[in-house]
Amino acid sequence: MKFGITSTIPLEVVLAGGHSVVDLNNLFIDHARPIDLVKHAERSGFPTKCCGWIRGIYGAVVSLGRIDGVIAVTGGDCSNTSALSETFEIRGIPIVPFAFPFERQADSLLPHLQAFAQRMGTDLDRAEEVRRTLIPLRRKLAALDVLLADGRLAFEEYHPVALSSSDLAEDWKGYETRVTALLDSASVRRPQQKGVPVGLIGVPPIISDFPEMLRRAGLRVVYDEVPRQFCMSPDATDLADQYTRYSYPFGMTGRLHDITANIRSRNISALIHYTQSFCFRAIEDVVLRHGVDVPVLTIEGDEPVKGDERLRLRLESFSEMLRSF
Ligand code: SF4
Repeated sequence: MKFGITSTIPLEVVLAGGHSVVDLNNLFIDHARPIDLVKHAERSGFPTKCCGWIRGIYGAVVSLGRIDGVIAVTGGDCSNTSALSETFEIRGIPIVPFAFPFERQADSLLPHLQAFAQRMGTDLDRAEEVRRTLIPLRRKLAALDVLLADGRLAFEEYHPVALSSSDLAEDWKGYETRVTALLDSASVRRPQQKGVPVGLIGVPPIISDFPEMLRRAGLRVVYDEVPRQFCMSPDATDLADQYTRYSYPFGMTGRLHDITANIRSRNISALIHYTQSFCFRAIEDVVLRHGVDVPVLTIEGDEPVKGDERLRLRLESFSEMLRSF
């Protein structure tokens, strides 16, 4: 079967069961006209005051019809997922739930992985084999992150590739070829130090030209928190360890250790915190600001369109302020 996923899940388990995976967020945002998918959801009754990613995912599933079922992350991710799943169920699309546990412990995650493996028609031994097969690819993704940090890889190059790691671009071998080519070409470059080094925190920005806007404002992203997390650590000892190291399901408190460690190690001057309109994660901004000691600029986006003049001015003013320190 081909499963759509609403967020990052232990895809090794799905692949071990002989299925394929497409990240519905990627299916939506990579569409030639993602705004059409958002409007499709609105015509189906989705409120306009509902997250643009949720509207877009619904539009992608219903109008593109490329999947046999949806794996819905019902714990440790979006508060809208359960209601979104119901809208799929009434259209006859099967739902397989997967939940990360509240406690960030491998022992707590293990029963969730076992139950998930059973639903996928496999077991954790076979899923571990897939995990080991993917380690060389995960090492290359980690190497790209190092190149982003030292200025040999531009954020505009890193960001889409790292985002695609959530479903390995639906074809892990082809994806590895692409990652290897980027790694080989970027490794021999001279580090580029132009721009104020910043970290990008939060859900992936829906604003279509956000990377270019940051660059034009003189902000150089050297840490791309969430897509970097999607890439998974190649140093994990097993699946439970890998998905416990993955910080995104464990709230801002669970993410802060990685964020603060990278502020120090990458000499980051400030953070850009991207939040999505109507998303509960905007509340995490309070916890983020409490936990870091660098300036934070919080940006909010709604639909998959270009950023407006107000956003451009905010980014430029922030960049100027940082350069005046
Ligand atoms: S941006 Fe927030 S509300 Fe939207 S899908 Fe992501 S977690 Fe859910």
